[in-house]
Amino acid sequence: MSEMPEPIKNPDIHSTKIFINNEYHDSVSGKTFPVYNPATEEKLADVQEGDKTTFKATLQTNSQPQMTLLTTKSQPWSGEGQEAMVGYVDVDKAVAAARAAFKIGSPWRTMDASQRGRLMHKLADLIERERVYLASLEVVDNGKPFADAYDADLGEVINVIRYYAGWCDKICGKTIPADGPMFCYTRHEPVGVCGQIIPWNYPLSMFTWKIGPALACGNTIVMKPAEQTPLSALYMGKLFTEAGFPPGVINIVPGYGPTAGAAIAEHMDVDKVAFTGSTEIGRIIQQAAGKSNLKRVTLELGGKSPVIVFADSDIDFAVANCHHALFWNMGQNCCAGSRTFVEEGIYDEFVKRSIERAKNRKVGEGFQSGVEQGPQVNQEQFDKILGLIESGKQEGAKLGCGGKRTGEKGYFVEPTVFYDVKDEMKIAQEEIFGPVQSIIKFKSIEEAIDRANNTTYGLAAGVFTKDIDKALTIANSIQAGSVWVNCYDPGLIQAPFGGFKMSGNGRELGEYALHEYTEVKTVSVTNFTCGD
Ligand code: NAD
Repeated sequence: MSEMPEPIKNPDIHSTKIFINNEYHDSVSGKTFPVYNPATEEKLADVQEGDKTTFKATLQTNSQPQMTLLTTKSQPWSGEGQEAMVGYVDVDKAVAAARAAFKIGSPWRTMDASQRGRLMHKLADLIERERVYLASLEVVDNGKPFADAYDADLGEVINVIRYYAGWCDKICGKTIPADGPMFCYTRHEPVGVCGQIIPWNYPLSMFTWKIGPALACGNTIVMKPAEQTPLSALYMGKLFTEAGFPPGVINIVPGYGPTAGAAIAEHMDVDKVAFTGSTEIGRIIQQAAGKSNLKRVTLELGGKSPVIVFADSDIDFAVANCHHALFWNMGQNCCAGSRTFVEEGIYDEFVKRSIERAKNRKVGEGFQSGVEQGPQVNQEQFDKILGLIESGKQEGAKLGCGGKRTGEKGYFVEPTVFYDVKDEMKIAQEEIFGPVQSIIKFKSIEEAIDRANNTTYGLAAGVFTKDIDKALTIANSIQAGSVWVNCYDPGLIQAPFGGFKMSGNGRELGEYALHEYTEVKTVSVTNFTCGD
């Protein structure tokens, strides 16, 4: 843990515009959207809204086309006197900038790979310089405790950029001993213009998980941050410019999902889309890619991850880790350990200690010292969580603690523990994305495996035991992209992360993420003079 500096309690908010070609722009429509502090429910800023605005262009002979705003949705216009349609939208501008930056012969395409690495290291230096400010911005925008934002989020952000900076000049193909007098080799080329759509739970971490491998491989980017938390991403525009990235390499378009997000997913000139968020929207993104240009798609979606605690484990260690697995980041974690399976021999004691731990969790505004849990991100998430808590009570789960809001203002939810939860209950099936732990009893390893796998999701799993055979049996049997043994979500940026089943496609982080941002090209050269 790094030494904790003093936060900036009222960070100035100076980047609220769309970032294209290393410049900040107003939206084409002139529209903005509000961003709120979830701890106070007060407005922080109005942000320029990237949109799918459609314009009618009335062509005139001796002058520029005269633009008239027609609609805020991308609907085909068929009005009387229609002379031309101009698809002139913020996302188009950003895509055009990214396409130009990707052109063969452009400064970005001709830059040495090692120089790309130096730019990324410079970016990491600038983030380190601004670490307190960026962490403070995350607190007011997202609600998370400052210590978590500074230490975990910003620590990870810097490490991810540096990790991928190191990869830039190490991404290489193979020479292949193909039949005949051939010199055959592969090149790992960048995919092209990458659309990246991210959620609000880790605003800057998700941003860097996406840009790190994309930049290392030499792609250009159109990023859409979540509408709830766009501020830290927009500030990054200044740092990209200062680091020396050529214009158009990274473009950031804040806006809503069905407009700005959909415009990226449907765009005919976007070569790949990477998305993190709900499974419901992941499906829409995949369909949009299929209906448009078959762009490459990677999806990091939801989860209902099991944690399996055997009776031979150290009970205090397991309780502490299962608590952390669920309550970290206010439970707003795609890989939250949201089904805690506990073997019957220690079940009662485990439940008792988990309730005690949850009752001691310190809830409050993110700048208060010692706070472990801030507010949920917005009213919508707050209402959804309270609704699911209600369903748990109605369906007969036993409420150990919590179960309602705390405070009068802000989206704070009491740390909640349910026990005697049954597999068919809504709280054991649906992603709650809130501070609600569900403890479930099991009797045998076979039963635990079957029940843990009985979900459409497959993002992650944890197992606590001192028996290596049990640990490896679970690790081999659970259908999930990550299995953690005697730990939970250790945050290893060098290792791949992603989902089985409906938790997604593709992998982020580590070397594996580089495969998602490169196309493999085979070059075969005839060499008649070669005797070998
Ligand atoms: P979401 O999936 O709607 O939003 C995630 C991102 O997708 C945002 O940037 C959003 O603007 C964009 N988006 C929304 N609709 C889109 C569309 N039609 N086309 C393109 N982009 C679109 O998530 P949410 O509504 O913010 O949260 C709903 C639930 O999703 C949560 O309760 C939680 O269960 C889950 N979630 C998961 C993650 C994760 O890390 N896997 C993150 C956030 C939310």
